[in-house]
Amino acid sequence: MKNLDVRILMRPHIRRMVPYSTARDEYKGTQGIFLDANENPFGSPMAKDLHRYPDPSHKALKAVLADRLELPADMLFCGSGSDEVIDVLMKVFCTPGHSGVVILPPTYGMYEVLAEIYELNVIKVPLDNEFQPDVPGIIRQGTGARMLFLCSPNNPTGNLMDQQRVLEILQHFEGVVVMDEAYMDFAESTSWAQEVLHHPNLIVLKTLSKLWGLAALRVGIAIAHPEVIRAMNKVKLPYNLSTPVMEMAVKALKNHDYPLKIKESVRVNRQLLTSELIQLRMVKHIYPSDANFILVRFENAERVYRLLRDRHIIVRNRSNETNCENCLRITIGTAEEIRQLIQALKEIDTTTDP
Ligand SMILES: *Cc1c(COP(=O)(O)O)cnc(C)c1O
Repeated sequence: MKNLDVRILMRPHIRRMVPYSTARDEYKGTQGIFLDANENPFGSPMAKDLHRYPDPSHKALKAVLADRLELPADMLFCGSGSDEVIDVLMKVFCTPGHSGVVILPPTYGMYEVLAEIYELNVIKVPLDNEFQPDVPGIIRQGTGARMLFLCSPNNPTGNLMDQQRVLEILQHFEGVVVMDEAYMDFAESTSWAQEVLHHPNLIVLKTLSKLWGLAALRVGIAIAHPEVIRAMNKVKLPYNLSTPVMEMAVKALKNHDYPLKIKESVRVNRQLLTSELIQLRMVKHIYPSDANFILVRFENAERVYRLLRDRHIIVRNRSNETNCENCLRITIGTAEEIRQLIQALKEIDTTTDP
């Protein structure tokens, strides 16, 4: 999509909408007597500053993220998890009951859930035998669709999307291409984030929920053309991230060794889990993974899932997903968790109960 003004993909009324502005957006200082927002001036029973509304523009958090991602802050959006970011994107680009959205199953379930909430036309173009995008199928069936969701490494399959195919999609798909990189931090591959500078219809999603170990905070990030960010800011609720969440995220992101350490631990434990699993009779296939989970095909996934659960070990049954018959998705745990999982699986492997 060369030289296309990404604004023409937005819903016209959102494009024209004047953003909601708080009195604090209009006053640029940080010191003053704040009598504009009906806050409690005496303070809270809890930590300092909790009686004030949070910064709706997420300035401090975006500054740290911009530094880490080596991108300007006006190309960043922060939401309460990637799930909110996807919701905001649909509100910007998709007309309820009308627009088409392309998804490539098997993939992350939230794309379809949110599309259904907005009664969008969900166009499914399954990944091929190697779990790679079917580019001709996408071009054929996706004509006229507003958005397309790519996930690399893909959940639940764990593999990276082929770079050449992603480029072909970026060149030929005439809507917004969302590249969900929730697991890219675990992979030996480069992020698509810098490509947003060359493709105004590309939007890259990141999250602090996985590698950064901050799933409870709910921080998701979109990297997009500044015009897209402007529209997203109009659509989001003003105070979508709380002050303690933003402060903790800023503190965490200053830690440079932590993500490297976790990436290495996950790599080692993924190798450990794989080498144990291949020794089990009931394991039929282990899909190669660049993420912090692996997809495993069993002889009878339903039975394994049930017997693991009886032993208080919870994995994700993906058997009903497209081309995932008899597959369980297993998160890479600690060495001790893997030891207990393998012990349970060995018991299940050698018993014949139903
Ligand atoms: C876990 C996950 C996310 C993260 O969602 P948050 O709302 O940020 O926790 C996003 N995309 C995919 C594909 C995921 O698996």
